[in-house]
Amino acid sequence: MVTGMKEYDLIAFGTGSAMNIVAPLIERNPRLKVAVIENEKAGGICLTRGCIPSKMLAYPAELIQDIRRAKEFYIDAKIKSVDGNALLRRVQEDVDKESKMIEHSLRNHPRIDYYDKTASFVSDYTIDVGGKEIYGEKILLCTGSKPLVPPIPGLKEVGFITNREFFYSLKKLPKSIAIIGGGFVSLELGHFMAMFGTEVHVIEMLPDIIMTEEPEARALVRRELSKDIHFHLGYKAKEVRKAMGKKIVVAENKEGETIEVKADEIMVATGRAPWKETNVEKTGVKTDERGWVITDEFMRTTKEGIWACGDANGKYLFKHVANYESEIVYYNAFRNANAKVDYHAIPHAIFTTPQVAGVGMKEEEAKKKHDILVGVYKYENTAMGEAMRLKDYFVKVIVDKDTYNILGATIVGPQASVLIQEIINLMYTREQASAMYRAIHIHPAMNEVVQRAFYNLREV
Ligand SMILES: Cc1cc2nc3c(=O)[nH]c(=O)nc-3n(C[C@H](O)[C@H](O)[C@H](O)COP(=O)(O)OP(=O)(O)OC[C@H]3O[C@@H](n4cnc5c(N)ncnc54)[C@H](O)[C@@H]3O)c2cc1C
Repeated sequence: MVTGMKEYDLIAFGTGSAMNIVAPLIERNPRLKVAVIENEKAGGICLTRGCIPSKMLAYPAELIQDIRRAKEFYIDAKIKSVDGNALLRRVQEDVDKESKMIEHSLRNHPRIDYYDKTASFVSDYTIDVGGKEIYGEKILLCTGSKPLVPPIPGLKEVGFITNREFFYSLKKLPKSIAIIGGGFVSLELGHFMAMFGTEVHVIEMLPDIIMTEEPEARALVRRELSKDIHFHLGYKAKEVRKAMGKKIVVAENKEGETIEVKADEIMVATGRAPWKETNVEKTGVKTDERGWVITDEFMRTTKEGIWACGDANGKYLFKHVANYESEIVYYNAFRNANAKVDYHAIPHAIFTTPQVAGVGMKEEEAKKKHDILVGVYKYENTAMGEAMRLKDYFVKVIVDKDTYNILGATIVGPQASVLIQEIINLMYTREQASAMYRAIHIHPAMNEVVQRAFYNLREV
């Protein structure tokens, strides 16, 4: 360590999940000296440009869908107008207010020095932050991720937005948008824009949207979203140019056929990338070939005293996983525990209308590893599903034939993200599928559809 260099008990990169560790630590040990480093708005991705603002937009988008269906229930409701710009501005302002409160409390905390710069390692446990070097006894690498931007000729010159600009600076929804990428970020933001009047095009090089989902889930979501979004599937964006005031994405399929999608704006939603600027290798932290920090089952990096959690390790890029991992880091790094991460039932949800939720394995993967039973049940065959006049939405569960251990589930339909929770809980408590039969389900609540999927288990 260089003399005069500021020394900390703990240096935390990121103000999202890292704060789950910093806050209880300071509470237990008020003498701790902590540095918190953040190069974007305080609060992390989830609050400032991810989960929270996107869900603040998903609900009104769903509301529009509900109003559209009102006539099925003999309700004469009409949407006279929508103002997506005002809604987006309000969401941006609400999030900004919360972020500023977090920043204020970090800047004014007597035990915390807050650095609002991009920091990078220069040597062992030593970090350069805005030309100043600081040293940490222990270091948390909770650096999150950033949008992955493919090197498409013309893209940078013509200009584009990502989720970051969408939530940080977009003031007006474009009349039309070409979204490159067909994953959940593309669908959630595309769905919102489509509901609020934007002509939305999604260009995806793979044969389908949300390719990690079950094929029947993808098909149903595609069918529903196609009513408002133009999908160009199997087309890889090859070039971007500008003509007559429009941005043009030229895309090509495997057969060499090209399409030109003209729009007022381009959004890139092609996945996430690590923050390589952190230069973690200079302190001996190893990364994989893509630059994600390697962590072991205890959330340790390859360097003593340096821990990583959340998107930074590139494993499961969800806030609930980042929160879970941060708890493991807290106990292992600071409370002498030896807790192992358990990734066997990682859940996720996509907040479009319809919602999609999943946990654990998909059928193809489960089949390779187990003898399985699969149970499928449709919402419309339950009383509540019938009352809501739902069509084709379903719950699919996968169970090991011999042990009745639950291996995975997928739900497509209203409240999928809520309904799946009872399956997640059983998986995490290592309960067998039979627990679902023992538990009385309220009649005629929507979650009867989950129980009945288990009653419907069959060989496949
Ligand atoms: C549009 C969108 C919607 C999403 N929706 C959901 C959802 O519904 N549910 C869900 O579970 N997940 C969702 N996610 C994912 C979720 O937001 C992330 O998984 C989660 O926020 C990651 O948290 P973290 O603690 O790893 O990183 P965070 O703390 O959130 O981010 C790390 C911070 O560190 C900063 N940083 C990185 N490197 C440096 C450096 N060298 N110096 C200084 N600062 C640095 C980064 O800029 C970043 O702000 C969504 C993501 C996006 C993009």
